[in-house]
Amino acid sequence: KIVVLDGYTLNPGDLSWDQLEKNGELVVYDRTPVEKIIERIGDADVVYTNKTPLIKEVFDACSNIKFIGVLATGYNVVDVDYAKTKGIVVTNIPTYGTDAVAQFTIALLLEICHHIGEHSNAVKKGDWINNADWCFWNYPLIELAGKTMGVIGFGRIGQSTAKIAQALGMKVLAYDAHRNEAWESDTCKYVTLDELLAESDVITLHCPLFPSTEGIINAGNIAKMKDGVIILNTSRGPLIIEEDLRDALNTGKVAFAACDVVSTEPIKADNPLLSAKNMIITPHIAWAPKESRQRLMDIAVDNLEAFVAG
Ligand code: NAD
Repeated sequence: KIVVLDGYTLNPGDLSWDQLEKNGELVVYDRTPVEKIIERIGDADVVYTNKTPLIKEVFDACSNIKFIGVLATGYNVVDVDYAKTKGIVVTNIPTYGTDAVAQFTIALLLEICHHIGEHSNAVKKGDWINNADWCFWNYPLIELAGKTMGVIGFGRIGQSTAKIAQALGMKVLAYDAHRNEAWESDTCKYVTLDELLAESDVITLHCPLFPSTEGIINAGNIAKMKDGVIILNTSRGPLIIEEDLRDALNTGKVAFAACDVVSTEPIKADNPLLSAKNMIITPHIAWAPKESRQRLMDIAVDNLEAFVAG
């Protein structure tokens, strides 16, 4: 028995679960509230989750589970250590959305640099304003060539984002817990976190959420950044202390920020970033072009078939 606890983000009507169905009796739920998890997977052999948490109490109550497929790259929704003690295999899908998330990160940056939505809306309202009165003063356009992008977490998505930034003429500074010299070049070098913070015009976050990275963007580190820096986060919300980023945006220390992820999702009405100046927030969608979702489903099936094959 295979249960998908929260298939809604993956399959909004345009992709099918047929491939998974070939492997057993399949039940797909759109979403699963926490209080329904145990009831729904009590007799399941295989469980897929995207954002539904699977914690110790669930594993204790559902003794049939043999395989968990996390339908995402980040697997912080599952208590992996406890699952291991029960002999349960946990898989994630690290590669399905690398290009999509990198492209989205650069899209956020280009929106900050060009404000295309604002300009288009003004034109549609009858305002053809292309002089200093409004356009260049309130929404200054920014050229990226020659500027420096600092990438915190230089793994798959960080490197892919850096490649596009280099194509735009940017220099790249990388900070990572593990160094891969093969990536170093005239326009890309590894630096310490402090060097990255001090020298970057744009800082983009691509490290996983670990205790060592939680709150890495905080008041102390923001103070080390250039005035007018741009901050991007398409990784995980808790990498940023949101109150600190809000304050820095409101004083202008940070000129612009864009986050596809926030500390609590869906975003709460009192999230500090909602009241910050020059802040773009999107609802955790960087991963979701149809092409990536299809890849994610294909790899999810491959993982299960590899498990069944031993
Ligand atoms: P990855 O594992 O390839 O890269 C992560 C990098 O971070 C690695 O190089 C690792 O060495 C580095 N790292 C680990 N600890 C660090 C630390 N303390 N300081 C600095 N660097 C550290 O992962 P990826 O595929 O590039 O994904 C990155 C993140 O993107 C994921 O963890 C996930 O949270 C996020 N993500 C978001 C979306 C979205 O839709 N917004 C989609 C997919 C992934």
